[in-house]
Amino acid sequence: MGRSEAGHAPAATGRDARLRHFAEDLLVARLPVTVYAAVPGADGRWLYISDQVEELLGFTAQQFLDDRELWFQRLHPEDRQRVVQAEDRSLVAGFRNAAEYRMVRADGRVVWVLDDTVLEHVEGEGLVQHGLLSDITRRKRTEMLLAAHTDLLGEVVNGEPLPEILSHLAQTLETTSGAALCHLEIDASEERHAFVSRADVADGSPVRGWKGEELRVPVRDGRREVGRLVLRYPPGRTRGPADDELAASGARLASTVLERAAQQDRVATSLALLEATLESTVDGILVVAASGRIAGANRKFAEMWHIDPELLASGDDGTVMSSVLRQLVYPDAFVERVQELYSDPTASTFDELHFRDGRVFERYSQPQRLNGESVGRVWSFRDVTANRRLEREVREQTTVLERLSRQHESILNSAGDGIYGLDQEGRVTFINDAGTRLLGLPREAVLGRPVDEVIRAEDVTDDIAGEVTAEPAGEPAGQSAGESTGERMGTATRLVTGRHVRADGRVFDSERIVAPIVQDGGVVGSVVILRDISERRAVDTMKDEFISVVSHELRTPLTSIRGALGLLAGGAAGELPPRAHRMVEVASDSSDRLIRLINDILDVERMAAGKLRLRHEQVDVMQLVATAVDETSPLAHDAGVRIEVGAVYGSVWADRDRVVQTLTNLLGNAVKFSTEGSVVRLTVVAGEWQVRFDIVDEGPGIPVDQLEEIFNRFQQVDASDTRSKGGTGLGLAICRGIVEQHGGDIWATSAGPGTGATFSFTLPTGPGGISRRGGSHRTTIASAGSVSTVLGQHRPGTAP
Ligand code: ADP
Repeated sequence: MGRSEAGHAPAATGRDARLRHFAEDLLVARLPVTVYAAVPGADGRWLYISDQVEELLGFTAQQFLDDRELWFQRLHPEDRQRVVQAEDRSLVAGFRNAAEYRMVRADGRVVWVLDDTVLEHVEGEGLVQHGLLSDITRRKRTEMLLAAHTDLLGEVVNGEPLPEILSHLAQTLETTSGAALCHLEIDASEERHAFVSRADVADGSPVRGWKGEELRVPVRDGRREVGRLVLRYPPGRTRGPADDELAASGARLASTVLERAAQQDRVATSLALLEATLESTVDGILVVAASGRIAGANRKFAEMWHIDPELLASGDDGTVMSSVLRQLVYPDAFVERVQELYSDPTASTFDELHFRDGRVFERYSQPQRLNGESVGRVWSFRDVTANRRLEREVREQTTVLERLSRQHESILNSAGDGIYGLDQEGRVTFINDAGTRLLGLPREAVLGRPVDEVIRAEDVTDDIAGEVTAEPAGEPAGQSAGESTGERMGTATRLVTGRHVRADGRVFDSERIVAPIVQDGGVVGSVVILRDISERRAVDTMKDEFISVVSHELRTPLTSIRGALGLLAGGAAGELPPRAHRMVEVASDSSDRLIRLINDILDVERMAAGKLRLRHEQVDVMQLVATAVDETSPLAHDAGVRIEVGAVYGSVWADRDRVVQTLTNLLGNAVKFSTEGSVVRLTVVAGEWQVRFDIVDEGPGIPVDQLEEIFNRFQQVDASDTRSKGGTGLGLAICRGIVEQHGGDIWATSAGPGTGATFSFTLPTGPGGISRRGGSHRTTIASAGSVSTVLGQHRPGTAP
């Protein structure tokens, strides 16, 4: 259109006029567009303009015809230059152009106009421009909104900050609507964000107390209203017919933006989570697309395969693959397997990879699916080198242990004693060859059975099960006062002599050792060692008889030799030369010792045969102790050992000489084994039924396993004692014989070598004796701490 001046309609008459009227009033008036004709150019003018222009721009056709500047004035300032330039370029007949531009209506609103125009040469008029003007505001808005939609979502995807995106939206809406202000408010849960079209009103000041018209539309998130979009018109300006629609579209667009932003957020969060998960796993993970290209991998993968992470990221698959293959022991198998899998994209696999450097990986692969389609494959690798090594070690150790256990078994089987392993309940879990022979039962008949059913003691009170399973309850009380000293039955190793019955009914003399198996402080079972000592017993008896006979035969000649030597030394055969005199003295001393020995042997033998006659009387303990200490004093004096006697009281029913003999013997031993300057203590504890004597020294002590042995004949801890200390190894056997014949008990305690020894014995206070316990001859050897030996009543045939 032009800056021209034209009449609404030039004057006409007659038929022409009627036709013109027809055209204008009946045809043109019915068109939905404005029709015009004008002379273009610098001195252009309107020739004709139809009345629809009033609806389009708010000015009448006449106003345009009257004011040739009006059109140019209402042309939107931003479009003026473009429109004028285009018109100036096209002043050629036949030129057709469709221009789109904005006009500012009389009421201030902006409308988009499509100006579809043609230039023609008209006789008498020259170049005439005629065309159609139509309102394309709606279409234009739609286009702009569509463009904005694409732009804004692009911004969301690019991660632009949400406030900026929403301000951009507000700005677009404002431009599109032509309203003064577009204001977008979003209520965040805590704060309220206002996104407005212009920075200068960001503080909201022109908004508060707005005088003009407002158009408000809620912005929703689903059903929830999360904000509103407000179009504000300056005073005097009113909303256009399509503004509601625009506001609604704008609000919808805002909702979409918010929703997408939230989605984007969620995606970003889950991606971050996924990445963190992938990076924190111990597995190396590789994702390969269906094309075979690497789609992604975590750091662990790069680490495990010694691949530069940058090389991985670059997606140079060939280099990655060759680096992988170089490390493997069987690269061909690897390639084959991978190819196999690509021909079956749905298969998942599990296998093992062996590296040249000794590492072993477990490889697991699974197809990656998207909407049911396989789009690639996820591989995960786990370094199981340590596990494999551990498994191998366990296997090797098991083999070693099995071999060892077989070895142990064969050692145990070659042992002469019966060896039985028991569980906590006392059932037999192991038996060696000698064990089966001893019981006369096959292995199968023994394994799994309670120990008492297979190892049968002749004496029913002899309770093996009690020994192996728990603390033996109720050891008969009232025995010797020393009995309870330091006894720890539960974890103690016990030695019991008795008689056992074979499966065929034959009975044999036995020695039984029961040792608990302690693990982590608890008893998990026990071992029983059973020994047939019948033969040893028989040999002992033979030996005893032999010694007895020899002793008797020796005593008479020895006594006469001793007498003769005495006479010789006394000068009965004349004065002897000094050398001869010394030799006779030595011979006399030796025959003295020999006679003492023989007397001891005969004493022992008498006791064994029960032929030792005791002259019982009520004796004051004080007298007994005084006599014994007197007799030992010279010995103690020579050894530099002090004898200390505690409070002494009470009386016993005993043979005075024999008790003095016992006390002297024990005191003598204590002095003999003490070092110079040490002390030997004798204490007496008098009770109602019995008196206990304790002789305590600070000497070398007695090994635990010898505590009982030393009471046997000719038993010495150290065989060299005879030479170094003098002595026969019979003293304690005699003491035991004497004490037991009195109805008392005798025992030794020592915490082991170097800790001193204590010898104790009891005697009855009156003719009634001490109540005695029955049962076998027991020794308890505590595994640690103090130790006590309790000698019960000896059985006939086992006594010395
Ligand atoms: P001996 O005549 O050899 O002393 P005993 O029967 O009196 O014979 O003693 C036997 C063994 O007991 C001794 O040889 C010695 O090994 C040990 N014994 C006896 N009393 C003590 C003690 N007080 N301290 C250490 N060992 C002792």
